[in-house]
Amino acid sequence: MKLMKFGGSSMSSATTMQKVADIVLAARHHEPVYVVVSACQGVTTTLLTAASHAAKGRKDFRALYKKMADQHLDCLNTLFSQQKKSKFYSELEKNINTLLVDLENLLEGVWLLREAAPSALDHIAGFGERLSGELFAGLLQKHHPAFYVDTRGLIITDAHFTAAAVKMPETFQRLRRWHSHFLQAQKNNIPVFTGFIASTRDGRSTTIGRNGSDYSAAIIGAALAVRVVEIWTDVDGVYSADPNIVDEAFVVPELSYEEAMELSYFGAKVLHPETLAPLRDHHIPLVVKNTFHPDAQGTLISAEKTTEFSLSPASGITSIDEMTLLSWIGRRRTEISTTVERVFETLSAADINVYFISQASSQHSLSIAIRTHHLPRAREVLRTAFKNELKHHWIRLEEKSGQMIVAIVGEGMKGVPGIAGKMFHSLGQQGISIRAIAQGASEHNISLVIDAKQQARALNLVHDAFFSRDKKLGIVLVGVGNVGGTLLNMLNEQMSALRKKGFHLRLFAAANSKRMLIDSAGINPMTCADTLKKTQGTTEYDLDKLIAAARNSDFLPLVFVDCTASSELVHRYPDVIRAGMHIVTPNKKANVLPMPAYRSLIAEFHEYDRHFLYQTNVGAGLPVLSTIKDLLAGGDHIIRIEGVLSGTLSYLFNYYDGKKSFADVLQQTQMDGLTEPDPREDLSGMDVARKLVIMAREIGLPMELTDVKIENLVPDELRGGKFSDSFYIRYAKYEKNMRKKLDDCQKKNCVLRYVGTLFEGKARAGLEMIPHTHPLAFTRASDNVIAITTDRYQVTPLVIQGLGAGSDVTAMGVFSDVLRLLHYLPY
Ligand code: ADP
Ligand code: ASP
Ligand code: MG
Repeated sequence: MKLMKFGGSSMSSATTMQKVADIVLAARHHEPVYVVVSACQGVTTTLLTAASHAAKGRKDFRALYKKMADQHLDCLNTLFSQQKKSKFYSELEKNINTLLVDLENLLEGVWLLREAAPSALDHIAGFGERLSGELFAGLLQKHHPAFYVDTRGLIITDAHFTAAAVKMPETFQRLRRWHSHFLQAQKNNIPVFTGFIASTRDGRSTTIGRNGSDYSAAIIGAALAVRVVEIWTDVDGVYSADPNIVDEAFVVPELSYEEAMELSYFGAKVLHPETLAPLRDHHIPLVVKNTFHPDAQGTLISAEKTTEFSLSPASGITSIDEMTLLSWIGRRRTEISTTVERVFETLSAADINVYFISQASSQHSLSIAIRTHHLPRAREVLRTAFKNELKHHWIRLEEKSGQMIVAIVGEGMKGVPGIAGKMFHSLGQQGISIRAIAQGASEHNISLVIDAKQQARALNLVHDAFFSRDKKLGIVLVGVGNVGGTLLNMLNEQMSALRKKGFHLRLFAAANSKRMLIDSAGINPMTCADTLKKTQGTTEYDLDKLIAAARNSDFLPLVFVDCTASSELVHRYPDVIRAGMHIVTPNKKANVLPMPAYRSLIAEFHEYDRHFLYQTNVGAGLPVLSTIKDLLAGGDHIIRIEGVLSGTLSYLFNYYDGKKSFADVLQQTQMDGLTEPDPREDLSGMDVARKLVIMAREIGLPMELTDVKIENLVPDELRGGKFSDSFYIRYAKYEKNMRKKLDDCQKKNCVLRYVGTLFEGKARAGLEMIPHTHPLAFTRASDNVIAITTDRYQVTPLVIQGLGAGSDVTAMGVFSDVLRLLHYLPY
């Protein structure tokens, strides 16, 4: 035989009750079943609220009562619409009405007295299960003999109203006595027991604590020695973490009693914490099932796990919020050594549960965590108990509210090194500090106290660290121009394919210089650029707010992708790093900061253990910097780097053959969109100089921009002022000089190229005559060519050539940096 318990979520309406009836009747085909029900969803809370309002003299308790009464009467009406004329119905209706009238009278009594004693509260709260039990037994009777069993008189407790302790031996005796009568007289019927409610030996109504129907089911199941207890609820089983907080939580197929106990004790609401003990003691397995998805396997809780669930040594993660951490700081070892015992005695005498204890090995300090609502009482009893010590300042008491406990549970953790370290690392990495730590002696549980505001982040982080086989990365994109816009298209095209490979990219935020858009659930990259053009659905661009949102996000890790050319933004990189973000950027400004600022930025990345990827700084999508890195890592020594490093200058000299003036070629190139808006920036050679500095720093030279000898192709006189087309006319006057250089080249069988060279610790950028046979001579269109001469590549240099500019290749390079970052990140 088996016992099936249905929670409030399964008893929320006539429709769900009908579902439950179908499940019970189907099970009855195979074996005898016993049923335990909770009150209909929300009813217990409504009853307690109504009582408390009545006690305060608030008349609205009547409206609360009325709504609740109507809910039951509606249910009755709907479920038995065909049976209205039967004797059975009139009896059921009478029972329900009697209960409702009794309840109403009780509430009116509370209102008159302006007082709701705990015993009255229990009496009132118990009506929820009595009503649902009557209704459900009635419903079953439509199809199969069934009857209602009020558990008051069967489950016996002390008089600790609202959270009464069950007197086990007596309860078992009474339940077994009931059972033998049942077996003799009504064996084929289905009994429907009320959960949650019990009574004292002298018959006063009690309840066994909120959410207690699970516990009622376990007690009844254990006493009647059923084969299995099933807890039917609204989720597919016990999840690896609260599914309301952790999206990636999954159903754990099997748990041991101890694991399930720890999980429920530390906040997994799906089971009342006391449920497991009676079942474990009587070797009865428990299965958690979903009323709304009965075919799902559920979670089996038993003594031995039969299958190896090996994804992680942990089984689940839970949390309890609204905790206060109380700490004793003792002046002398002797005072604190007996403190632990006294603290426990004092608090337990005051019915205050201690969830966590951590004692420093020096024994000079002790921390415990209690529910914050117990704090005033705890303070009072502890101050009394430690009056003497406090008076003499032998100990100091500190309180820290607004805390929570995160606990990780799993038998597989026993003896496995590094579990706590992994937990600390996952939190520490994202700047969540840990106030206290405790590990159960069984090693089945490690719990930490942290700031309660971090609950969602912390649970997601720890869950990820222990259960995720996938890698995740959230993107904060700043700059949605050519490169940023193309990157969005790439994201749009590739995100789902990457997800199938276990790489989860999510666009967390995007911004242009005016507006921004933040959505931790993920922004659609396809519509992002258009959305940013509107005020609706976006907010004004504010980097501080963007950084704060990233800092507080649950979706981690995050990468800040700077697709601007802004120096200002680079000055904010330290804040970006401190908020926990990695940085990927084509923006060269950071890597050419003056050495002291550059060094401190790099130190910042190291200190916060963040990655900085800027592959596109040289050669756009070409693997220039990564090749340099690889050569150095392989122990090679770089002798010389020379290259056509500017796509624009490459293009200009590929097309300048003397038939048209250089100024004309330049103007055409500008019109084709291949130069900066002010082409003097390309001609200045600054961009080439920056790339030289970046490569120099990559090979360890502390080079500054001012160290590079730069040939500026714009004559002094034309450098100032705003750029306009008249520049070309004035520039044409210098054609002679350029033409002479070209002619000289042609005479010597050379080509003219603007080349950057890094050699013997020095860098220069300028026009050079390159022999036809030299690798730098073979450029087409806006190709970059970089020739690297090293110890190993001495005779023929290593050459990297290809399209070195443009939003497509740059965005592709940025995207590949993002993917590289994913590979660097731990699982
Ligand atoms: P019932 O009314 O059936 O007793 P409860 O609301 O008491 O249901 O418990 C089920 C709920 O517990 C789920 O809907 C879920 O939101 C919550 N919950 C919290 N932590 C967990 C967990 N680790 N696994 C499953 N459910 C959990
Ligand atoms: N009805 C009770 C409550 O809401 C008991 C339960 O649902 O388990 O707390
Ligand atoms: Mg419950």
